[in-house]
Amino acid sequence: SAMREGSVKRTKTVCTYCGVGCSFEVWTKERHILKVEPTHGPANGVSTCIKGKFGWDYVNSDKRLTVPLIRENGAFREASWDEAFTLIARRFTEIRAQHGPDALAFIASSKCTNEEAFLMQKLARAVVGTNNIDNCSRYCQSPATMGLWRTVGYGGDSGSIHDLEKAGLVIGIGTNTAESHPVLATRIKRAHKLHGQRLIVADLREHEMARRADLFIRPTPGTDFVWLTAVAKYILDNGLEKKDFIDQWVNGLDEYRKSIEGYTLAHAEEVTGIAQDTLKQIAHEIVEADGTCIMWAMGVTQQCSGSETSTAISNLLLITGNYMRPGAGSYPLRGHNNVQGASDMGAMPNFVGGYQKIDDPAVQEKFAARWGVPLPHNKGLDNHEMVHAVHEGTLRCMYLKGEEMGLVDANANYVDAAFEKLDFFVVQDVFFSHTASFADVVLPASPSLEKEGTFTNTERRIQRLYRALEPLGQSRPDWEIIQGVANAMGANWTYTHPSDIMAEIASLVPLYSGVTYDRLEGFRSLQWPVLPDGSDTPLLFTEGFPFPDRKARLYPAEFVAPQETPDAEYDLHLNNGRMLEHFHEGNMTFKSAGITEKVPGSLVEVSPDLARERGLESGRYVRLVSRHGAVRVRVHVTDRVKGKQIYMPMNNPEARNALNRLTGSHTDPCTHTPAYKDTAVRLEVLPEM
Ligand code: SF4
Repeated sequence: SAMREGSVKRTKTVCTYCGVGCSFEVWTKERHILKVEPTHGPANGVSTCIKGKFGWDYVNSDKRLTVPLIRENGAFREASWDEAFTLIARRFTEIRAQHGPDALAFIASSKCTNEEAFLMQKLARAVVGTNNIDNCSRYCQSPATMGLWRTVGYGGDSGSIHDLEKAGLVIGIGTNTAESHPVLATRIKRAHKLHGQRLIVADLREHEMARRADLFIRPTPGTDFVWLTAVAKYILDNGLEKKDFIDQWVNGLDEYRKSIEGYTLAHAEEVTGIAQDTLKQIAHEIVEADGTCIMWAMGVTQQCSGSETSTAISNLLLITGNYMRPGAGSYPLRGHNNVQGASDMGAMPNFVGGYQKIDDPAVQEKFAARWGVPLPHNKGLDNHEMVHAVHEGTLRCMYLKGEEMGLVDANANYVDAAFEKLDFFVVQDVFFSHTASFADVVLPASPSLEKEGTFTNTERRIQRLYRALEPLGQSRPDWEIIQGVANAMGANWTYTHPSDIMAEIASLVPLYSGVTYDRLEGFRSLQWPVLPDGSDTPLLFTEGFPFPDRKARLYPAEFVAPQETPDAEYDLHLNNGRMLEHFHEGNMTFKSAGITEKVPGSLVEVSPDLARERGLESGRYVRLVSRHGAVRVRVHVTDRVKGKQIYMPMNNPEARNALNRLTGSHTDPCTHTPAYKDTAVRLEVLPEM
């Protein structure tokens, strides 16, 4: 899918800035990006947002890594690939010989391709012999996946993005959709405006979707579980549930009913601050709507109750019959472009590809037969456990690709200290990141425009990207680098193109069994599960749920309360999230001049009330102090936040003032996803400069 006109080349690619997975043609001349043109992307049609349209000139930044770097006497020097591979193989082998394979850990990237995530976990398991492999969905979406596995069996959006337009009611919980998933939000805005779709938003901040909503509620931070479960109880108590649907398709009603006994409307009002009448209204809206879709994101998942709240959402959809048809169902909105795919590929400590359990003997046998080595049996460490294991001295070595873990993981000071303790640390990235500053070897990777592969978006849609530009300098696609490391360790991998890797994936991962590069040619795409004959599944569960009796399961309720409720010493609740113009830690967008000019660095949003109380105005510098660290940021007074809730974008160019200097190590107990949104701070006004 590359076409030339004169010296202008047009190449199909897929956006790397969010999980919507917009695809378009990028027009290039030599290394110049002339324009990005959405033509007929299956997820986006002819739409794109500011990031997809203008966020690409980072590929030509003079800050790109172009040569492997090796630390020597405390400083980095340039090295050849051979030298880097030889050193890595020698150190990996030494550390494994001395401390065992579980002294090494690997982190795949949800910005990289499926093929690259697959190879990273194969390197960990088949070459090194450890299940210590994870990816950054641990930081965002694992709780959503958990809630869906428990109840409906597949951890993905139950329908397509365009199905959202068919819903009578859309509920968004803890998702700043207009800024984080812009093109998807456009569809809802259109349906809301033109087709009478109802919109309910639950969030702390009054963002654009909240302003558009028919009903906007602001529950006490960390308590979404409570109001959702109270709504479910009210529906059951009043016989408003979809009885036929439950009889035919849902197990576990009695036990579920018992588990939610305490969740009365009065209790919910007390805990969440949402009036009982409002909760009743929500219940009736769901029951009366012609199809309800619930979307949620990190406002739900990055809480101690992340998995439980995700479960509560799916329970509520089940009792109201909101699965198995278009315009109904669950939409956990994935952040990075390939959060879905990196997990699908088995870059996780307890699953190999397609969520097959690592300790299942049949799975072990299948992989051992294909790879010619037995798989390690024990569950490996997730990202969160890795950091603790380094502090405890049991984990000595890490290989991390495409991940600014030092700024993205919670409790950044603790993470930095772990990096300093590692015996050997390999970081592979497009830029020299904060994390790379702790590395022993830094490997230059090529970004998406310089390689081929596939991404899987939030609606389980697998799409190909093609090479628009040659790799800059000596940088290489991640899959080639991982193969180089594996072969230096004595493996004999012979992949010549990502399609070879996909053929192996299809043979081992049932969800992808019918995926081939031919079937994904150009703008063609497939939504998993993909059967061997190539037929795919835009809408899940049309013939039942993936459990032996084909019935979904209501899962008993259990609330995990927030840990850092504001107190006298730390009196403010710190919320955090994305801004439209920047992407996560900003390591790509901050290098795109077009975007940086519009939105300069680090700030904290403060409500007019709090500003008045503390004598603050926009532009003033303050120090925020939590139990875990402190930062210096600029105040922006806005009524998007309310009272003693403040908001900091996670996109911050300054490592020492990054949001995660403030967040702690407490997590959702089921998945170990950090409870980023559960952070209390105090604010100190700094003298004017
Ligand atoms: Fe890229 Fe997401 Fe914007 Fe689409 S909506 S162009 S995938 S950032």
